[in-house]
Amino acid sequence: MVNITQDFVSRGAKNRPGYTMTPAFITVHNTGNSSAGADAAGHAAFIKSPGAGTTSWHFTVDDHQIIQHIPTNENAWHAGDGANGPGNRTSIGIEICENSDGNLAQAEANAIDLIIDLMKQYNIPLTNVVPHQHWTGKYCPHLILPRWDAFIASIAKRQQEREIADKLATVPDWAKDSVKKLVAKSALSDFSGDTTFYRLIVLMDRLGLIA
Ligand SMILES: [Zn+2]
Repeated sequence: MVNITQDFVSRGAKNRPGYTMTPAFITVHNTGNSSAGADAAGHAAFIKSPGAGTTSWHFTVDDHQIIQHIPTNENAWHAGDGANGPGNRTSIGIEICENSDGNLAQAEANAIDLIIDLMKQYNIPLTNVVPHQHWTGKYCPHLILPRWDAFIASIAKRQQEREIADKLATVPDWAKDSVKKLVAKSALSDFSGDTTFYRLIVLMDRLGLIA
């Protein structure tokens, strides 16, 4: 998973309003900037420049890094639904880069991992992961909206993969391959057990009962 670099907009800047926020939603955007170099670093420089005006968001994700611009317990102005709008006041804004010199699929994969981490951290359900369009009708994230349902499905799939990987990490190395075979057959969802349990699984595998 990609590291997050914190590079916050200065306190008191026009685009760091500083209202306390308890995140209840995650709003997904595309930057709308396909220029070469319009990656996370480029946006981190932009959001701290006068050109950003009052606009802000929490994270920019590209194909190799994530930069956080605003703390997640403060609001940002990214949803376009007004000073008291739930988009602006209760949602974490994530901008996914679309720079022509970047790998869009990788940027989206990095964003999905970030979304999963934030959902877990703030107990946000997948139904509260929304496109910018949800708040104002704006056609954003323009590259993802045509396949929004598939994007949400890929978050759920990745979430499941990560849960399985976390659980597999607790299985002794000598039993992992056999346990993985059972998981692949959807024959085992709870892999917690003692040595005897794992030895039986390996034994079944050796007898050819699993493959
Ligand atoms: Zn947007």
